[in-house]
Amino acid sequence: LSSRASAVLGALDIPTAQEVPGVYDGTWAGSGEVLESVCPATGEVLARVQGASPQELQAAIEKSREAYHFFRSVPAPRRGEILRQIREALAAKRDELGALISLEMGKIRTEGVGEVQEFVDIADYAVGLSRMMNGRVVASERPGHSILEVPNPLGVVAVLSAFNFPVAVYGWNLALSMAAGNATLWKPSPSTPLCSVAVTKIVSGVLERNGIPGAVAGLVIGGKDVGEAVVESEHVTMVSFTGSENVGRQVGKVVQSRFGKVLLELGGNNASIVMPDADLSLAVPAVFFGAVGTAGQRCTSTRRLFLHQDIAPAFLSRLQDMYNKLQPGDPLDPATLYGPLHTRAAVGIYSSAIERLRAGDAELLCGGASYGDDLPSALRGGHWVRPAIAVPKKVDLESDVWRTETFAPVLCVATFERLEQAVAWNNGVPQGLSSSLWTRDIRNVGKWIGPAGSDAGIVNVNVGTSGAEIGAAFGGNKSTGWGRESGGDAWKQYVRWSACTLNFSDEAPLAQGVSFSA
Ligand code: NAD
Repeated sequence: LSSRASAVLGALDIPTAQEVPGVYDGTWAGSGEVLESVCPATGEVLARVQGASPQELQAAIEKSREAYHFFRSVPAPRRGEILRQIREALAAKRDELGALISLEMGKIRTEGVGEVQEFVDIADYAVGLSRMMNGRVVASERPGHSILEVPNPLGVVAVLSAFNFPVAVYGWNLALSMAAGNATLWKPSPSTPLCSVAVTKIVSGVLERNGIPGAVAGLVIGGKDVGEAVVESEHVTMVSFTGSENVGRQVGKVVQSRFGKVLLELGGNNASIVMPDADLSLAVPAVFFGAVGTAGQRCTSTRRLFLHQDIAPAFLSRLQDMYNKLQPGDPLDPATLYGPLHTRAAVGIYSSAIERLRAGDAELLCGGASYGDDLPSALRGGHWVRPAIAVPKKVDLESDVWRTETFAPVLCVATFERLEQAVAWNNGVPQGLSSSLWTRDIRNVGKWIGPAGSDAGIVNVNVGTSGAEIGAAFGGNKSTGWGRESGGDAWKQYVRWSACTLNFSDEAPLAQGVSFSA
């Protein structure tokens, strides 16, 4: 192992001499499929991780169920205290874990550390929530009656997560699910197994110190087969799935067919709209970050840019300058702003998108080729592409160029005359995750956030499409799946609601005045 990689793995006690166990349900195991963790920047194999066999998976689900039976009776504020300790344990390893995210996923250092911070933030939030997950008392129409709406834990919540946020997405789910009193079982992306092992070690250390069964926060590493078995299991009450639209569509159907609960956080095809009165000194860098940050691998990355015709030339020339100055570099180096794509397959997705654009005679303002010899030699085994800006011939919302999420740094640009046109383009795609309008005119803001405005789950003004805070509920509409996680009222999805009518009178009247006396 390179010294670069062994320093990061050593700081988190990840042994690499032998295969790393990838199942945790109170004890560590793993005798299923062996997965390789590959560094996207260099192509180096970091470790081999042993996933869950079918028997281990079923045993882990059973252990989760038992852990739930214990944990549901732990008072919520006490569960909050456990979360507070998890928050402290994570914060103590923030830099080390951030570096592992950069090493294994490929995002740059500040974003890796930021992802751990997001877990810390949502843990803080859930500590408070643990004393505020209140039900309601509803006025009854019957004398001497009262109606309560009572939240109770659900059971086992499975979290299936994507490669691009290998820590934070689990954090959002674990914090709320745990505050609510569930057992949580994590099936992470098979290409970021070490991040999930490192996080589970930190979380399980806290559980063990508090005498809480480890399966309250279990882990089953594996690929599609393990994911499918988790989704099909009758013992999994809710499946919280983050990933692509294609897989999400299958997951949704399977969970629905067994009347389980499902929360879907799927792809985005996010647009920024820039009006002629926008402050370009804010808008250009924000679009730049939105489109090339995380090498275009955020669900909220800016993929479509609609520029008012009056400012389009000035905007594009400033944006191109920024693209041209961007240098690829080792994500572990704090000076690097642009990292690799996560997998070799993603390079293929980028190349197909470029071919599709070329076939449609789009103008490529930047990118479209590989770096070749322009890459530092240490990075030549990695998955690198030049970020692209393309101006397709027209906005054809039926074409794949505009309709599909290309999970790579490819930004498609068009110009418009009227805001209504740009909003129609914003809304005219299957996905509905994030959107952003740049303007200083309050009338545009009113249109944008109102009923005839953006139909996405995230509707920003003078803020780019990517980089959400944890305080508001996060999620998207339409083919993004309608799920909400993180802040706001998202916690209400992690409980089952009971409507309890209590009669403390000496009569037993029926509702709506129905009379049924013999
Ligand atoms: P993916 O759909 O390939 O995989 C997601 C997870 O599903 C992985 O854990 C994978 O092993 C598992 N899986 C694959 N096939 C399965 C099956 N048949 N049944 C059950 N599980 C299965 O996604 P990815 O490539 O890892 O991630 C990128 C995608 O995730 C993008 O589309 C991105 O927009 C989306 N994403 C969305 C959000 C959001 O909050 N909306 C956040 C992050 C990523």
